[in-house]
Amino acid sequence: MASALRFNAAKIARAAKPARIAGVRNFSRSAVALERSVSSLYTFTEEEEMMREAVAKFAREQVKPKVHEMDEKEMMDKSVFTGLFEQGLMGVETPAELGGTGGSFMSAILVVEELAKVDASVSVACDVQNTLVNTLVRTYGTDAQKENYLTRLATDTVGCFCLSEAESGSDAFALKTVAKKDGNKYILNGSKMWITNSYEADIFLVFANVAPEKGYKGITCFIVEKNMGVKIAKKEIKLGIRASSTCVLSFDDVEVPAENVLGEVGKGYKYAIEILNEGRVGIAAQMIGIAQGAVDEALPYMYQRKQFGTPIAEFQGVQHQVAQIATEIEAARLLTYNAARLKEEGRSFVKEAAMAKLYASQIAEKAASKAIEWAGGVGFTREFPLEKFYRDAKIGAIYEGTSNIQLQTIAKLLKQNYV
Ligand SMILES: Cc1cc2nc3c(=O)[nH]c(=O)nc-3n(C[C@H](O)[C@H](O)[C@H](O)COP(=O)(O)OP(=O)(O)OC[C@H]3O[C@@H](n4cnc5c(N)ncnc54)[C@H](O)[C@@H]3O)c2cc1C
Repeated sequence: MASALRFNAAKIARAAKPARIAGVRNFSRSAVALERSVSSLYTFTEEEEMMREAVAKFAREQVKPKVHEMDEKEMMDKSVFTGLFEQGLMGVETPAELGGTGGSFMSAILVVEELAKVDASVSVACDVQNTLVNTLVRTYGTDAQKENYLTRLATDTVGCFCLSEAESGSDAFALKTVAKKDGNKYILNGSKMWITNSYEADIFLVFANVAPEKGYKGITCFIVEKNMGVKIAKKEIKLGIRASSTCVLSFDDVEVPAENVLGEVGKGYKYAIEILNEGRVGIAAQMIGIAQGAVDEALPYMYQRKQFGTPIAEFQGVQHQVAQIATEIEAARLLTYNAARLKEEGRSFVKEAAMAKLYASQIAEKAASKAIEWAGGVGFTREFPLEKFYRDAKIGAIYEGTSNIQLQTIAKLLKQNYV
Protein backbone atom coordinates (compact mmCIF):
# COMPACT_ATOMS: atom_id res chain seq x y z
CA MET A 1 0.00 0.00 0.00
CA ALA A 2 2.81 2.39 0.88
CA SER A 3 4.28 2.03 -2.60
CA ALA A 4 0.82 2.45 -4.14
CA LEU A 5 0.41 5.69 -2.21
CA ARG A 6 3.83 6.92 -3.28
CA PHE A 7 2.84 6.13 -6.86
CA ASN A 8 -0.37 8.11 -6.37
CA ALA A 9 1.57 11.06 -5.01
CA ALA A 10 3.76 11.07 -8.11
CA LYS A 11 0.67 10.94 -10.31
CA ILE A 12 -0.86 13.87 -8.44
CA ALA A 13 2.31 15.89 -8.93
CA ARG A 14 2.33 15.07 -12.66
CA ALA A 15 -1.36 15.86 -13.01
CA ALA A 16 -1.07 19.19 -11.21
CA LYS A 17 1.87 20.53 -13.23
CA PRO A 18 0.22 21.38 -16.60
CA ALA A 19 -2.55 23.26 -14.78
CA ARG A 20 -0.16 25.98 -13.70
CA ILE A 21 1.21 26.33 -17.22
CA ALA A 22 -1.82 26.04 -19.48
CA GLY A 23 -4.78 27.67 -17.73
CA VAL A 24 -8.29 26.68 -16.74
CA ARG A 25 -9.14 24.11 -19.43
CA ASN A 26 -6.12 22.02 -18.53
CA PHE A 27 -6.68 22.65 -14.86
CA SER A 28 -10.10 21.02 -14.94
CA ARG A 29 -8.61 18.05 -16.84
CA SER A 30 -5.84 17.67 -14.29
CA ALA A 31 -8.33 18.05 -11.44
CA VAL A 32 -10.18 15.03 -12.82
CA ALA A 33 -6.91 13.09 -13.00
CA LEU A 34 -6.16 14.14 -9.45
CA GLU A 35 -9.57 13.08 -8.23
CA ARG A 36 -9.19 9.67 -9.82
CA SER A 37 -5.81 9.00 -8.27
CA VAL A 38 -6.77 9.82 -4.66
CA SER A 39 -8.02 6.90 -2.58
CA SER A 40 -10.55 6.89 0.24
CA LEU A 41 -9.51 5.61 3.66
CA TYR A 42 -11.65 2.57 2.89
CA THR A 43 -9.39 1.53 0.04
CA PHE A 44 -7.62 -1.65 1.04
CA THR A 45 -5.22 -3.91 -0.77
CA GLU A 46 -6.50 -7.33 -1.73
CA GLU A 47 -4.37 -8.83 1.03
CA GLU A 48 -5.83 -6.46 3.65
CA GLU A 49 -9.37 -7.20 2.51
CA MET A 50 -8.77 -10.96 2.64
CA MET A 51 -7.17 -10.69 6.05
CA ARG A 52 -10.14 -8.74 7.41
CA GLU A 53 -12.65 -11.28 6.13
CA ALA A 54 -10.62 -14.22 7.48
CA VAL A 55 -10.31 -12.64 10.94
CA ALA A 56 -13.99 -11.76 11.08
CA LYS A 57 -14.82 -15.41 10.33
CA PHE A 58 -12.33 -16.67 12.92
CA ALA A 59 -13.73 -14.27 15.54
CA ARG A 60 -17.31 -15.26 14.80
CA GLU A 61 -16.78 -19.00 14.66
CA GLN A 62 -13.92 -19.71 17.06
CA VAL A 63 -13.83 -16.85 19.55
CA LYS A 64 -17.46 -15.79 20.03
CA PRO A 65 -18.71 -19.09 21.53
CA LYS A 66 -16.04 -18.83 24.26
CA VAL A 67 -16.26 -15.13 25.11
CA HIS A 68 -18.74 -15.30 28.00
CA GLU A 69 -16.99 -18.19 29.74
CA MET A 70 -13.53 -16.65 29.32
CA ASP A 71 -14.79 -13.41 30.83
CA GLU A 72 -16.41 -15.22 33.77
CA LYS A 73 -13.31 -17.34 34.40
CA GLU A 74 -10.98 -14.38 33.79
CA MET A 75 -8.79 -16.62 31.67
CA MET A 76 -8.09 -16.96 27.97
CA ASP A 77 -9.00 -20.35 26.52
CA LYS A 78 -5.81 -21.99 25.24
CA SER A 79 -7.52 -22.88 21.97
CA VAL A 80 -7.92 -19.16 21.23
CA PHE A 81 -4.16 -18.57 21.31
CA THR A 82 -3.67 -21.74 19.22
CA GLY A 83 -6.20 -20.42 16.72
CA LEU A 84 -4.54 -17.00 16.58
CA PHE A 85 -1.20 -18.65 15.76
CA GLU A 86 -2.74 -21.04 13.21
CA GLN A 87 -4.46 -18.16 11.44
CA GLY A 88 -1.19 -16.24 11.20
CA LEU A 89 -2.59 -13.46 13.40
CA MET A 90 0.28 -13.36 15.88
CA GLY A 91 2.82 -12.37 13.24
CA VAL A 92 0.86 -10.19 10.86
CA GLU A 93 3.81 -8.03 9.78
CA THR A 94 6.46 -10.70 10.32
CA PRO A 95 8.02 -11.73 7.00
CA ALA A 96 6.80 -15.03 5.56
CA GLU A 97 10.31 -16.53 5.66
CA LEU A 98 10.20 -16.15 9.46
CA GLY A 99 6.84 -17.86 9.72
CA GLY A 100 4.74 -14.69 9.63
CA THR A 101 2.00 -13.43 7.35
CA GLY A 102 4.06 -10.64 5.75
CA GLY A 103 1.14 -8.21 5.92
CA SER A 104 0.94 -4.44 6.25
CA PHE A 105 0.53 -2.33 9.39
CA MET A 106 -3.03 -1.63 8.24
CA SER A 107 -3.65 -5.39 8.16
CA ALA A 108 -2.61 -5.60 11.81
CA ILE A 109 -4.96 -2.71 12.62
CA LEU A 110 -7.86 -4.39 10.83
CA VAL A 111 -7.14 -7.64 12.69
CA VAL A 112 -7.27 -5.84 16.06
CA GLU A 113 -10.51 -4.06 15.13
CA GLU A 114 -12.27 -7.21 13.91
CA LEU A 115 -11.28 -9.20 17.00
CA ALA A 116 -12.47 -6.41 19.32
CA LYS A 117 -15.92 -6.48 17.72
CA VAL A 118 -16.22 -9.91 19.34
CA ASP A 119 -13.82 -9.81 22.30
CA ALA A 120 -11.56 -6.98 23.43
CA SER A 121 -9.41 -9.40 25.47
CA VAL A 122 -8.46 -11.49 22.46
CA SER A 123 -7.98 -8.27 20.54
CA VAL A 124 -5.47 -6.82 23.00
CA ALA A 125 -3.56 -10.11 23.25
CA CYS A 126 -3.10 -10.00 19.49
CA ASP A 127 -2.46 -6.25 19.47
CA VAL A 128 0.36 -6.38 22.03
CA GLN A 129 2.03 -9.28 20.23
CA ASN A 130 1.89 -7.50 16.87
CA THR A 131 2.20 -3.77 17.40
CA LEU A 132 4.55 -3.83 20.41
CA VAL A 133 6.49 -7.07 20.76
CA ASN A 134 6.99 -8.13 17.13
CA THR A 135 7.55 -4.57 15.97
CA LEU A 136 10.28 -3.97 18.55
CA VAL A 137 12.15 -7.14 17.58
CA ARG A 138 11.60 -6.57 13.85
CA THR A 139 12.81 -2.96 14.04
CA TYR A 140 15.76 -3.22 16.40
CA GLY A 141 16.70 -6.92 16.52
CA THR A 142 19.87 -8.45 15.08
CA ASP A 143 19.45 -11.03 12.32
CA ALA A 144 19.99 -13.80 14.88
CA GLN A 145 17.39 -12.33 17.25
CA LYS A 146 14.87 -11.99 14.43
CA GLU A 147 15.51 -15.54 13.22
CA ASN A 148 14.99 -16.96 16.69
CA TYR A 149 12.42 -14.74 18.37
CA LEU A 150 10.29 -13.43 15.49
CA THR A 151 9.84 -16.97 14.22
CA ARG A 152 8.70 -18.22 17.60
CA LEU A 153 6.46 -15.20 18.18
CA ALA A 154 4.76 -15.79 14.83
CA THR A 155 4.26 -19.51 15.27
CA ASP A 156 3.72 -20.61 18.88
CA THR A 157 5.09 -18.29 21.57
CA VAL A 158 3.32 -15.45 23.35
CA GLY A 159 5.33 -12.31 24.09
CA CYS A 160 4.82 -9.30 26.33
CA PHE A 161 6.02 -5.72 26.69
CA CYS A 162 7.33 -4.89 30.16
CA LEU A 163 7.72 -1.16 30.77
CA SER A 164 5.37 -0.09 33.59
CA GLU A 165 6.19 -0.50 37.27
CA ALA A 166 4.39 0.22 40.53
CA GLU A 167 5.92 3.68 40.75
CA SER A 168 6.34 4.46 37.07
CA GLY A 169 3.17 4.55 34.96
CA SER A 170 2.63 7.77 33.02
CA ASP A 171 6.15 8.74 34.09
CA ALA A 172 7.45 5.51 32.53
CA PHE A 173 11.11 6.45 32.47
CA ALA A 174 11.26 6.71 36.26
CA LEU A 175 11.47 2.91 36.21
CA LYS A 176 13.55 1.24 38.92
CA THR A 177 14.36 -2.18 37.45
CA VAL A 178 18.12 -2.39 37.03
CA ALA A 179 20.43 -4.47 34.83
CA LYS A 180 24.01 -4.85 36.01
CA LYS A 181 26.68 -5.94 33.52
CA ASP A 182 28.62 -9.01 34.67
CA GLY A 183 31.03 -10.28 32.00
CA ASN A 184 29.00 -11.34 28.97
CA LYS A 185 25.68 -11.21 30.78
CA TYR A 186 23.42 -8.78 32.64
CA ILE A 187 21.79 -9.41 36.01
CA LEU A 188 18.25 -8.02 36.21
CA ASN A 189 16.59 -7.03 39.48
CA GLY A 190 13.27 -5.32 40.03
CA SER A 191 9.61 -5.75 39.23
CA LYS A 192 7.09 -4.86 36.55
CA MET A 193 3.38 -4.19 36.88
CA TRP A 194 0.31 -4.38 34.62
CA ILE A 195 1.94 -6.61 32.01
CA THR A 196 -0.55 -7.80 29.38
CA ASN A 197 -0.14 -11.42 28.15
CA SER A 198 2.48 -12.11 30.82
CA TYR A 199 0.65 -15.12 32.31
CA GLU A 200 0.87 -16.97 28.99
CA ALA A 201 4.14 -15.46 27.74
CA ASP A 202 7.53 -17.08 27.30
CA ILE A 203 9.24 -14.03 25.80
CA PHE A 204 9.44 -10.79 27.81
CA LEU A 205 10.76 -7.52 26.39
CA VAL A 206 11.98 -5.89 29.57
CA PHE A 207 13.05 -2.26 30.01
CA ALA A 208 15.72 -1.94 32.70
CA ASN A 209 18.28 0.69 33.59
CA VAL A 210 21.96 -0.25 33.12
CA ALA A 211 23.19 3.09 34.50
CA PRO A 212 20.66 4.72 36.88
CA GLU A 213 23.06 7.64 37.39
CA LYS A 214 22.43 8.58 33.74
CA GLY A 215 18.66 8.72 34.29
CA TYR A 216 16.52 7.70 31.32
CA LYS A 217 19.64 7.46 29.13
CA GLY A 218 20.50 4.20 30.92
CA ILE A 219 17.24 2.51 29.94
CA THR A 220 17.89 -0.57 27.83
CA CYS A 221 15.58 -3.18 26.35
CA PHE A 222 16.31 -6.87 26.98
CA ILE A 223 14.81 -9.99 25.44
CA VAL A 224 14.21 -12.18 28.47
CA GLU A 225 12.95 -15.75 28.32
CA LYS A 226 10.69 -17.04 31.06
CA ASN A 227 13.08 -19.87 31.90
CA MET A 228 15.82 -17.34 32.68
CA GLY A 229 13.92 -16.80 35.95
CA VAL A 230 10.94 -14.47 35.38
CA LYS A 231 8.37 -14.94 38.16
CA ILE A 232 4.68 -14.07 38.11
CA ALA A 233 4.05 -12.39 41.45
CA LYS A 234 0.34 -11.63 41.04
CA LYS A 235 -2.43 -11.82 38.45
CA GLU A 236 -4.74 -8.80 38.58
CA ILE A 237 -8.51 -9.11 38.93
CA LYS A 238 -9.98 -6.44 36.69
CA LEU A 239 -13.11 -4.51 35.70
CA GLY A 240 -12.81 -5.30 32.00
CA ILE A 241 -10.74 -7.23 29.42
CA ARG A 242 -10.83 -9.89 32.12
CA ALA A 243 -9.68 -12.79 29.93
CA SER A 244 -6.55 -10.85 29.04
CA SER A 245 -3.89 -11.60 31.64
CA THR A 246 -2.36 -8.62 33.48
CA CYS A 247 0.36 -9.54 35.97
CA VAL A 248 2.97 -8.22 38.34
CA LEU A 249 6.36 -9.74 37.50
CA SER A 250 9.45 -10.04 39.60
CA PHE A 251 13.05 -10.31 38.50
CA ASP A 252 15.44 -11.54 41.17
CA ASP A 253 18.99 -11.88 39.87
CA VAL A 254 17.72 -12.93 36.46
CA GLU A 255 20.73 -13.63 34.23
CA VAL A 256 20.31 -12.44 30.65
CA PRO A 257 23.05 -13.01 28.03
CA ALA A 258 24.50 -9.75 26.65
CA GLU A 259 23.48 -10.91 23.17
CA ASN A 260 19.87 -10.49 24.32
CA VAL A 261 20.15 -6.71 24.51
CA LEU A 262 17.65 -5.45 21.93
CA GLY A 263 19.14 -2.63 19.86
CA GLU A 264 21.64 -0.33 21.55
CA VAL A 265 22.40 -0.09 25.25
CA GLY A 266 20.86 3.12 26.62
CA LYS A 267 18.37 3.57 23.76
CA GLY A 268 15.47 1.76 25.39
CA TYR A 269 13.62 5.00 26.21
CA LYS A 270 13.66 5.95 22.52
CA TYR A 271 12.42 2.54 21.43
CA ALA A 272 9.62 2.60 24.02
CA ILE A 273 8.39 6.03 22.86
CA GLU A 274 8.50 5.05 19.20
CA ILE A 275 6.77 1.74 19.69
CA LEU A 276 4.03 3.18 21.89
CA ASN A 277 3.28 5.79 19.23
CA GLU A 278 2.50 2.95 16.84
CA GLY A 279 0.81 0.88 19.52
CA ARG A 280 -1.71 3.65 20.11
CA VAL A 281 -3.12 3.14 16.64
CA GLY A 282 -3.72 -0.47 17.64
CA ILE A 283 -5.55 0.55 20.81
CA ALA A 284 -7.64 3.01 18.79
CA ALA A 285 -8.56 0.08 16.51
CA GLN A 286 -9.48 -2.01 19.54
CA MET A 287 -11.76 0.81 20.72
CA ILE A 288 -13.58 1.21 17.40
CA GLY A 289 -14.03 -2.57 17.37
CA ILE A 290 -15.63 -2.39 20.84
CA ALA A 291 -17.90 0.51 19.79
CA GLN A 292 -19.01 -1.25 16.61
CA GLY A 293 -19.41 -4.59 18.36
CA ALA A 294 -21.74 -3.06 20.96
CA VAL A 295 -23.91 -1.41 18.30
CA ASP A 296 -23.96 -4.59 16.20
CA GLU A 297 -25.16 -6.60 19.21
CA ALA A 298 -27.82 -4.08 20.23
CA LEU A 299 -29.47 -3.25 16.90
CA PRO A 300 -30.92 -6.66 15.92
CA TYR A 301 -32.55 -6.83 19.38
CA MET A 302 -33.86 -3.28 18.99
CA TYR A 303 -35.55 -4.12 15.69
CA GLN A 304 -37.16 -7.18 17.23
CA ARG A 305 -38.20 -5.75 20.60
CA LYS A 306 -41.54 -3.93 20.46
CA GLN A 307 -43.01 -1.37 22.84
CA PHE A 308 -46.23 0.54 22.14
CA GLY A 309 -46.60 -1.90 19.20
CA THR A 310 -43.47 -0.56 17.47
CA PRO A 311 -39.88 -1.91 17.30
CA ILE A 312 -37.88 0.33 19.65
CA ALA A 313 -35.32 0.98 16.87
CA GLU A 314 -38.12 2.67 14.88
CA PHE A 315 -38.78 5.43 17.41
CA GLN A 316 -37.29 8.66 16.14
CA GLY A 317 -35.81 9.46 19.56
CA VAL A 318 -33.87 6.21 19.40
CA GLN A 319 -33.01 6.47 15.69
CA HIS A 320 -31.35 9.84 16.22
CA GLN A 321 -29.19 8.46 19.00
CA VAL A 322 -28.15 5.49 16.84
CA ALA A 323 -27.32 7.81 13.94
CA GLN A 324 -25.27 10.05 16.21
CA ILE A 325 -23.24 7.13 17.58
CA ALA A 326 -22.75 5.66 14.10
CA THR A 327 -21.36 9.01 12.95
CA GLU A 328 -18.98 9.22 15.88
CA ILE A 329 -17.74 5.66 15.33
CA GLU A 330 -17.14 6.51 11.68
CA ALA A 331 -15.11 9.59 12.68
CA ALA A 332 -13.05 7.54 15.14
CA ARG A 333 -12.44 4.86 12.50
CA LEU A 334 -11.27 7.41 9.94
CA LEU A 335 -8.90 9.00 12.47
CA THR A 336 -7.50 5.53 13.16
CA TYR A 337 -7.13 4.44 9.52
CA ASN A 338 -5.57 7.79 8.67
CA ALA A 339 -2.97 7.44 11.45
CA ALA A 340 -2.20 3.91 10.19
CA ARG A 341 -1.74 5.04 6.59
CA LEU A 342 0.41 8.03 7.63
CA LYS A 343 2.64 5.65 9.56
CA GLU A 344 2.90 3.29 6.57
CA GLU A 345 3.86 6.19 4.32
CA GLY A 346 6.66 7.13 6.72
CA ARG A 347 5.00 10.48 7.44
CA SER A 348 4.51 12.10 10.81
CA PHE A 349 1.65 10.37 12.61
CA VAL A 350 2.25 10.90 16.34
CA LYS A 351 -0.39 13.61 16.83
CA GLU A 352 -2.89 11.72 14.67
CA ALA A 353 -2.28 8.47 16.59
CA ALA A 354 -2.83 10.27 19.91
CA MET A 355 -6.04 11.86 18.58
CA ALA A 356 -7.26 8.50 17.27
CA LYS A 357 -6.67 6.74 20.60
CA LEU A 358 -8.14 9.57 22.66
CA TYR A 359 -11.28 9.90 20.57
CA ALA A 360 -11.84 6.21 19.85
CA SER A 361 -11.65 5.39 23.57
CA GLN A 362 -14.24 8.09 24.32
CA ILE A 363 -16.54 6.79 21.59
CA ALA A 364 -16.16 3.16 22.72
CA GLU A 365 -17.35 4.09 26.20
CA LYS A 366 -20.19 6.21 24.84
CA ALA A 367 -21.36 3.64 22.27
CA ALA A 368 -21.30 0.75 24.76
CA SER A 369 -23.13 2.87 27.34
CA LYS A 370 -25.81 3.88 24.83
CA ALA A 371 -26.17 0.28 23.58
CA ILE A 372 -26.99 -0.80 27.15
CA GLU A 373 -29.66 1.91 27.41
CA TRP A 374 -31.11 0.97 24.02
CA ALA A 375 -31.54 -2.63 25.15
CA GLY A 376 -33.14 -1.59 28.48
CA GLY A 377 -32.99 -4.05 31.39
CA VAL A 378 -31.70 -6.85 29.17
CA GLY A 379 -28.67 -4.71 28.36
CA PHE A 380 -27.84 -4.45 32.04
CA THR A 381 -27.62 -8.21 32.57
CA ARG A 382 -24.70 -10.55 32.09
CA GLU A 383 -26.83 -12.72 29.79
CA PHE A 384 -26.33 -10.13 27.06
CA PRO A 385 -22.79 -9.03 26.03
CA LEU A 386 -23.45 -5.29 26.18
CA GLU A 387 -22.37 -4.78 29.80
CA LYS A 388 -19.08 -6.50 28.87
CA PHE A 389 -18.45 -4.09 25.99
CA TYR A 390 -19.01 -1.26 28.49
CA ARG A 391 -16.56 -2.72 31.02
CA ASP A 392 -14.01 -3.48 28.29
CA ALA A 393 -14.18 0.03 26.85
CA LYS A 394 -12.86 1.70 30.03
CA ILE A 395 -9.28 0.50 29.55
CA GLY A 396 -8.90 2.58 26.38
CA ALA A 397 -8.50 5.73 28.49
CA ILE A 398 -5.76 4.13 30.57
CA TYR A 399 -3.24 1.88 28.85
CA GLU A 400 -0.56 2.86 26.33
CA GLY A 401 -0.78 6.40 27.68
CA THR A 402 -3.81 7.72 29.57
CA SER A 403 -6.17 10.20 27.93
CA ASN A 404 -4.42 13.06 29.73
CA ILE A 405 -1.11 11.92 28.28
CA GLN A 406 -2.64 11.80 24.76
CA LEU A 407 -3.96 15.34 25.29
CA GLN A 408 -0.50 16.43 26.41
CA THR A 409 1.06 14.97 23.25
CA ILE A 410 -1.55 16.60 21.01
CA ALA A 411 -1.14 19.98 22.75
CA LYS A 412 2.66 19.81 22.49
CA LEU A 413 2.56 19.03 18.77
CA LEU A 414 -0.09 21.67 18.08
CA LYS A 415 2.07 24.30 19.80
CA GLN A 416 4.79 23.77 17.19
CA ASN A 417 2.45 25.29 14.59
CA TYR A 418 2.13 28.54 16.50
CA VAL A 419 5.25 29.26 18.54
C1 LIG B 1 -5.18 -3.75 31.96
C2 LIG B 1 -3.85 -3.05 31.81
C3 LIG B 1 -2.91 -3.56 30.94
C4 LIG B 1 -1.66 -2.94 30.82
N1 LIG B 1 -0.70 -3.50 30.00
C5 LIG B 1 0.56 -3.01 30.04
C6 LIG B 1 1.64 -3.69 29.35
O1 LIG B 1 1.44 -4.70 28.67
N2 LIG B 1 2.89 -3.21 29.50
C7 LIG B 1 3.17 -2.09 30.21
O2 LIG B 1 4.34 -1.72 30.30
N3 LIG B 1 2.18 -1.42 30.87
C8 LIG B 1 0.90 -1.85 30.80
N4 LIG B 1 -0.11 -1.20 31.47
C9 LIG B 1 0.20 0.01 32.25
C10 LIG B 1 -0.40 1.26 31.67
O3 LIG B 1 0.28 1.67 30.54
C11 LIG B 1 -0.43 2.31 32.79
O4 LIG B 1 -1.45 1.92 33.69
C12 LIG B 1 -0.66 3.70 32.28
O5 LIG B 1 0.47 4.16 31.60
C13 LIG B 1 -0.99 4.68 33.43
O6 LIG B 1 -0.08 4.57 34.47
P1 LIG B 1 -0.60 4.43 35.98
O7 LIG B 1 -1.58 3.32 36.00
O8 LIG B 1 0.57 4.32 36.86
O9 LIG B 1 -1.39 5.76 36.25
P2 LIG B 1 -0.75 7.15 36.73
O10 LIG B 1 0.42 7.49 35.88
O11 LIG B 1 -0.55 7.10 38.21
O12 LIG B 1 -1.92 8.15 36.37
C14 LIG B 1 -3.07 8.31 37.21
C15 LIG B 1 -3.85 9.51 36.69
O13 LIG B 1 -3.02 10.68 36.72
C16 LIG B 1 -3.01 11.29 35.46
N5 LIG B 1 -1.69 11.89 35.17
C17 LIG B 1 -0.47 11.33 35.36
N6 LIG B 1 0.48 12.18 34.94
C18 LIG B 1 -0.15 13.30 34.48
C19 LIG B 1 0.29 14.52 33.91
N7 LIG B 1 1.57 14.80 33.72
N8 LIG B 1 -0.68 15.43 33.53
C20 LIG B 1 -1.98 15.16 33.71
N9 LIG B 1 -2.45 14.02 34.24
C21 LIG B 1 -1.54 13.09 34.61
C22 LIG B 1 -3.30 10.18 34.46
O14 LIG B 1 -3.83 10.67 33.25
C23 LIG B 1 -4.30 9.34 35.24
O15 LIG B 1 -5.58 9.85 35.06
C24 LIG B 1 -1.37 -1.77 31.56
C25 LIG B 1 -2.34 -1.26 32.42
C26 LIG B 1 -3.56 -1.88 32.57
C27 LIG B 1 -4.57 -1.32 33.54
